Amino acid sequence: MTAAAVELIDYDQVIEKFDPVMGLEVHVELGTATKMFCGCPTTFGADPNTQVCPVCIGLPGSLPVANEKAIESAIRIGLALNCSIRPSSVFARKNYFYPDQPKNYQISQYDEPIAFDGHLDVVLTDGTEWRVEIERAHMEEDTGKSLHIGGSGRIHGASHSLLDYNRAGVPLVEIVTRPIVGAGARAPEVARAYVTALRDLLKALDVSDVRMDQGSLRCDANVSLKPTGAAEFGTRTETKNVNSLKSVEVAITYEMRRQAAILLAGGEIVQETRHYHETDGTTSAGRRKETAEDYRYFPEPDLPPVQPAAEWIEQLGTTLPELPWVRRARIQEEWGVSDEVMRDLVNVGAVDLIIATVDAGAGAEAARGWWVSFLAQQANSREVELADLTITPAQVASIIGLVDEGKLTTKLAQQVAVGVLDGEGEPEQVVADRGLEVVRDDSALQKAVDEALAANPDIAEKIRGGKVAAAGKIVGDVMKATRGQADPARVKELVIAACS
Ligand code: ADP
Ligand code: MG
Ligand code: ZN
Repeated sequence: MTAAAVELIDYDQVIEKFDPVMGLEVHVELGTATKMFCGCPTTFGADPNTQVCPVCIGLPGSLPVANEKAIESAIRIGLALNCSIRPSSVFARKNYFYPDQPKNYQISQYDEPIAFDGHLDVVLTDGTEWRVEIERAHMEEDTGKSLHIGGSGRIHGASHSLLDYNRAGVPLVEIVTRPIVGAGARAPEVARAYVTALRDLLKALDVSDVRMDQGSLRCDANVSLKPTGAAEFGTRTETKNVNSLKSVEVAITYEMRRQAAILLAGGEIVQETRHYHETDGTTSAGRRKETAEDYRYFPEPDLPPVQPAAEWIEQLGTTLPELPWVRRARIQEEWGVSDEVMRDLVNVGAVDLIIATVDAGAGAEAARGWWVSFLAQQANSREVELADLTITPAQVASIIGLVDEGKLTTKLAQQVAVGVLDGEGEPEQVVADRGLEVVRDDSALQKAVDEALAANPDIAEKIRGGKVAAAGKIVGDVMKATRGQADPARVKELVIAACS
C-alpha cells in the first residue's frame, strides 16, 4: 500500500521558501562470527530460528556477555569517523514491546555511547567537499524479523505472522549525524554522498559486508523544513529503512516536497516515522514518534561498563586501513589525472574496476579507456551499474592483452567484449567462436587489396604517382571487406607495395 496521493510542491519552490534540515541515522550490522551478547552464529539466510539460544531469545536467568570483536569494530569505526572514544561507556536498556524483540527491551547505549563528536568529509558529484558532523556512534543489538503471511507482505491484510529470531542479537553500530543544515537544494545529494562515503569507509574497515539490499546497512532519514533564514528547526519526520543509495536521495526529496505542501497550506508536520516505498519513491505515515522518556532507559544491570584500555584504542588506531578518500588521492597522483577526470572516474564507479584491471596485467591508460568509454556505454545501454556488468576486470585485461599482442584490433576487441557480456564465455572462447582474430594470412589480404585497387583505378593511379595519403581509402575498403579483421598497418604496407 502506498501513500494516498498528496499534492507535492515543485522542488524549486520548496527551496525558494524553505531550508531543509536533515539528520541521518545509519545502522550497520557488524560482520562478526557471533552475536553481540551470546555465541550464536550470525550467518545470513539460515533456516528460521536455527541460530538462537536462551540469551538472544531472552529466557529468564540467561546473562549477556559483550562480544569483544564487536567492541573492537565499534572503536575502529569511531576512530575512522574522527570521534573521541569514551574511556568508560555503558550499555542501557531501551524498553519497548515488539514481537520481533523477545526480551521486550533492546540493549543499546544511551547517554554514554562509545564514540562521539566526529566528522566525515564527503565529496559531492561536482567535487565540492561537505563536512558532516557525527554526533555519536553507539553499539546495540539487532531485532528479529517478522514475516507477515497472506496479503501484500505488510501487516495490514495478513492472516498471520511468523517470527524469526536469527537476527535478534546481531551486533549493530548506529551512527548518528548532527543536524545537517545549509545544504539547501543539494540536501538530498549531500545525504546520498554521506551514506556512500560511510559505506565505502565501513567496507574499507572490513567491519561489515555493507549490503544495503540485505539490510546490513540501513539508513533512517530525518527531514524537516524551516522558513528560509529562520533559526529554529521545524518538526522532523523520520523515514525508516531506506535501503539503497538512490532511495536516500529520492526519499528525502519526496519528504521535502510533501512537507512543503503541508506547511504552505497552513498545516503542521507531525513528528512520526514514515515508511519508504521503493516502487514509487513515496513515503507514508508510520507510528507517532516516541520520545526518549517513553523508552524508560536505564543502565543495563547485567553488563559491566565497557572500558577499553588506552593502549588498546591506540593499537586499534594503527589498524585503520588507508581511508577511501586518501587512497583515491594517492591513485589520482599515481595515474596523473586531473581532478575532473578523477571525479568522473569516481562518479561512474570505475576506480576499483580500473585498479583490478591493472592488477590483472593491463596498462593503466588502456584500462581507464575501456571502463570509461566502451564499457560505460555498454553499462548505460544495458541499464546496469558499471560494476554489475557481466565482464570481470581480469577478462577486460585479457582482451587488452590480445590487442597489445596484435591479435585483435580495437574494433574486434569491442566485439569480443560484447560476446563476454552476452555470456558467450571467456575472451579467447569468443574470439574462436565468433572467428574474430585479426587476419594474418597475407595471401587473403593480398586478394582483398588487389580487389580494392581494381575497384578504384583512379585512386590506385594516385598512389602509384606517389600520393601515399590516398592509400587511406583503399585501406578502409579492405578493412570493410574483411569485416574489421585485418591489421590496418599491414594492409597499408601491402597497398603501397602493390602500387610501387
Ligand atoms: P531518535 O531517537 O528520535 O531516532 P536520534 O537522536 O537518534 O533521535 O536521531 C535524530 C536525528 O535527527 C539526528 O541525526 C539529529 O541530528 C536529527 N535531527 C534532530 N532534530 C532535527 C530536525 N528538527 N530536523 C531534521 N533532523 C533533525
Ligand atoms: Mg535513533
Ligand atoms: Zn544466542
